[in-house]
Amino acid sequence: MSDKYDVIVIGSGPAGYVAAIRAAQLGLKTACIEKWKNDEGKGINGGTCLNVGCIPSKALLDSSHKYHALKEGYKNHGITAGAPKINVPEMIERKQKVVDQMSGGISQLFKANGVTSLYGTGKLLAGRKVEFTANDGSVQELEAENVILASGSVPVDIPVAPVNGETIVDSTGALEFQSVPKKLGVIGAGVIGLELGSVWGRLGSEVICLEAMDEFLAMMDQQIAKETKKILTKQGLDIRLSSRVTATEVKGKKVTVTYTDKDGNEQQEVFDKLIVCVGRRPYTEGLLAADSGVNLDERGFIYVNDLCSTSAPGVWAVGDVVRGPMLAHKGSEEGVVVAERIAGQKSLVNYDIIPSVIYIHPEVAAVGRTEEQVKADGEDYNVGIFPFMAIGRAVASDEAEGMVKMIADAKTDRVLGCHVVGPSAADLVQQVALAMEFGSTAEDIGMTVFSHPTMSEAVKEAALAVNGHAIHMPNRKRRKK
Ligand code: FAD
Ligand code: AMP
Repeated sequence: MSDKYDVIVIGSGPAGYVAAIRAAQLGLKTACIEKWKNDEGKGINGGTCLNVGCIPSKALLDSSHKYHALKEGYKNHGITAGAPKINVPEMIERKQKVVDQMSGGISQLFKANGVTSLYGTGKLLAGRKVEFTANDGSVQELEAENVILASGSVPVDIPVAPVNGETIVDSTGALEFQSVPKKLGVIGAGVIGLELGSVWGRLGSEVICLEAMDEFLAMMDQQIAKETKKILTKQGLDIRLSSRVTATEVKGKKVTVTYTDKDGNEQQEVFDKLIVCVGRRPYTEGLLAADSGVNLDERGFIYVNDLCSTSAPGVWAVGDVVRGPMLAHKGSEEGVVVAERIAGQKSLVNYDIIPSVIYIHPEVAAVGRTEEQVKADGEDYNVGIFPFMAIGRAVASDEAEGMVKMIADAKTDRVLGCHVVGPSAADLVQQVALAMEFGSTAEDIGMTVFSHPTMSEAVKEAALAVNGHAIHMPNRKRRKK
């Protein structure tokens, strides 16, 4: 039997499910194949993001933040409570309920939009055919005018720290601890490592992050990265840069980690749990028949052009499995654009304006280029910085750590980037992303009326500071080559 679709999407993470919904909205007959199963062996949509990524990590970040705030956060407000207790299994169970609710929501959206949801494994054959092996083992060949590959990514594992699911875990395992580890090691002080280290640190773990690189958060604006490191260190996170893990040894319930420090000396630490967070890699296992016509690049990503077309006609690829930042919203945007292109529209992803967030407390967020990047590009620019210490709302809430940094072109005043560490950073940066999408200058933002008192006034003041006009601090106009 052969079923013919306008669009078959393989993978129902945020890239795939969004592509499927948009395609169906545009009147295309669409199926989405997903192989993920829940603990009961039932097919489940949502991919990494919903099941073991964005959503469960934020559920635990929010739970642990509430606990920590109750314990420490309200003293300056004159509020004390009895010593709070944490029931870890209950916290993990709540996280799972959130996951189930959200992925159930995708299935409902599929139904509402007329997307055929197929649970099982998809394999791209030659000529836009897809072999579908259902979870019950039955195999069917499907045909499509267009196939969208959205098979996502999986954690990178390193031979020196093999994940055993007990003492050594990856990010997925770190969302399932049933008690608070006394001493917790994290390999990799990247976004995911810092978020997961923060969850367990807030609940009482002694956390040591071992990071091979000399620079902290190297992809971020370094002024913001330095401030972030200061804040995290004050919170008790022990971040050791230039520390490359070279070996691990599991003995009973403990793991000994050997690493070389910044001076090249060998060091050891013994942990109750070790989280390996050294990045993610594209996932294409079993996805492509030998004659599918789809090429991978040298790093294993599916090769695509700017419009997400692969080397096989009518086959597209989106999300973590292709180049670009591994972020849910980047993949979703590509999914929308590909569906619209298939429907004959001329949509494009604006890769220059993709915000990113680290959900520690306070949040860290960024959009556009860093000062280092603008400098390397040889452009003339101005920088405006505004500290939350001078924002009434931030001081009133006792959330006055951090700053907003805005970078604008010296000639046109166009905003090139905005970098924030501080309260509500994710939402503040989103305001600037919106402004950048409309080609805003720093002056445009500075002339916009912001409600008082809000955290967002720091965005307005940083924009004013770009041209030396900040009101609530003395201006030091900085013009740099
Ligand atoms: P995925 O979400 O990985 O989905 C791919 C899907 O394809 C999977 O369900 C897989 O089962 C399925 N699949 C693969 N091959 C086949 C096949 N052959 N047949 C059928 N199905 C197949 N990003 C953010 O933007 N914000 C965050 O806060 C954030 N937090 C994160 C926290 C953690 C702990 C982790 C691990 C990641 C986080 N990310 C975050 C990254 C985000 O989860 C990914 O960027 C996003 O999930 C990628 O979406 P995707 O659709 O490309 O792939
Ligand atoms: P990210 O790519 O943001 O998830 O971050 C992963 C981090 O892990 C990077 O900053 C890497 O430098 C770091 N890393 C990779 N391998 C090792 C290792 N053996 N020891 C310590 N850090 C590592």
